[in-house]
Amino acid sequence: MDASNTLRIGHGYDLHRLEPTAPDGPGRPFVLGGVQVPHDRGPVSHSDGDVLMHAVTDALLGAIGAPDIGDLFPDSSEACRDAESSRFLREAHRRIQASGFDIVNMDLTVICERPKLKEHKDLIAAELARLLECEPARVNLKAKTHERVDAVGEGRAVEAHAVVLLGPKS
Ligand code: MG
Repeated sequence: MDASNTLRIGHGYDLHRLEPTAPDGPGRPFVLGGVQVPHDRGPVSHSDGDVLMHAVTDALLGAIGAPDIGDLFPDSSEACRDAESSRFLREAHRRIQASGFDIVNMDLTVICERPKLKEHKDLIAAELARLLECEPARVNLKAKTHERVDAVGEGRAVEAHAVVLLGPKS
């Protein structure tokens, strides 16, 4: 792929089921974009279950037409058990850079009924920018509820959408 003078867009989506955290259930600590947010429920997953990082990873990979997160890091792989999702994100970032691209901006949405994310959004966006070695202004994060409807609205799942724009590496 010739990256000069080219823009690429990518979209990523992920959802994780939420269960009570230990000792009451199998939920892992609730982590979003590498930031642990206090909550009595957390994702059930093979890796650390960072739904936002998974969506961003897939958006980056999708933008360059690379295999997706499930192809690269299958949940059947022992090597990925309990993995920190920053490992997946860094690999996606390495791949876009190796293809000659850098991040222009990304627009992210997390949807969950609880916990409230308003006070954590800036820290989560800053952590993603740090991991992706870009200015914080390039990472926009929105948080919404699901209006108490369906699994997400009943607090039984958390969902994330990511759209990223890539441009030629300067
Ligand atoms: Mg996932």
